[in-house]
Amino acid sequence: MDYTKNAKPQMSVACGHCHADVPQTEGRGRVKRYCTPEHGRSFRRHMRAMGFDV
Ligand SMILES: [Zn+2]
Repeated sequence: MDYTKNAKPQMSVACGHCHADVPQTEGRGRVKRYCTPEHGRSFRRHMRAMGFDV
């Protein structure tokens, strides 16, 4: 284990919209799930269009 990097689990995150790798910021905070805020919005709009309440 390398404790010098950051406290988050070392897992790669793919953007929920375009599936690109999402770079995670170091340190504490929420895990980013989209490469850009625009892609987060696009994904939620898409899910709503299909009838999901996201
Ligand atoms: Zn994306």
